[in-house]
Amino acid sequence: MKLHRHDRLPLTCTREGTCCHGKAVWVHPGEIARMGADLGLTSAEVIDRHTVDGGIRLRFDGPAGWKGLPACTFYQPSQGCRAHPGRPLACRLYPLGRERHGPKVRYLHEGKVFPCLTGCPSVVTLPSLTVGAYLDGQEAGPAESAQDAYLDLASDLAEAAFAVAFDSGLVAAGHPLIPAWTSMAAHDPTTRAESLGPWRESLLGLDLSSSEAPGSAPWITAHRQHLQARLQASFATLADPAALASASTTCLGMALHLVQSLGGDPAGAAEKWLGRARALGAR
Ligand code: SF4
Repeated sequence: MKLHRHDRLPLTCTREGTCCHGKAVWVHPGEIARMGADLGLTSAEVIDRHTVDGGIRLRFDGPAGWKGLPACTFYQPSQGCRAHPGRPLACRLYPLGRERHGPKVRYLHEGKVFPCLTGCPSVVTLPSLTVGAYLDGQEAGPAESAQDAYLDLASDLAEAAFAVAFDSGLVAAGHPLIPAWTSMAAHDPTTRAESLGPWRESLLGLDLSSSEAPGSAPWITAHRQHLQARLQASFATLADPAALASASTTCLGMALHLVQSLGGDPAGAAEKWLGRARALGAR
């Protein structure tokens, strides 16, 4: 079901903790950095202790709770979410999803499949809210802007992948690229992160030194600039076809990993991007 901000639903808040069991929460580098700063951890420590899937999904292997499902590692039965002030956008939106097409934003609701609509005590005791009021109460605005900034960065990385391939003459020379790109798209997130090698660190902001508040809009801008500067320094002077092809595939892999960290569909993104590249002559 697609929703707008004025639509009304039996929405509730996540503070009850019933929503912190058994769900998939994808997290982007800014969210990792923000939660780390709140808890006195580096991003690398948050990733090691609290994530799976190459550092982009929260680990849910805490004690079983709501409906016998395992808890998020940030959840404590006595206290609720330990990361509540800097919790990810997925937690602020729950039980909603969000999609952006250009400037248009829509919220998604899957009705009965969300556990909070089938017996969560909050749902039956709290009044229903409009989507907009619910999101305002969750202070979702800055988190939504951060997600959009990373979505733009993912597009930039895909553009970089194709700029390396096309501008260097690789495509014109008939160098095969589609198989490596397709293989990168087919990887599970853990394998994809491993295949990025040292670029995983830069993508996740682990090598970023910034005085900005971790996860804030200026921090994300600094992350983007840092990554772009590293790409420029590493790839701009490449001439060997194999090295160029590898650089292009790495950029595409980073774009896809970032898309998945935002809760997006990397296979769908790859299909769209590769379709365009094929139409322009890539093979
Ligand atoms: S980060 Fe917090 S709000 Fe999100 S699932 Fe974990 S415990 Fe729940």
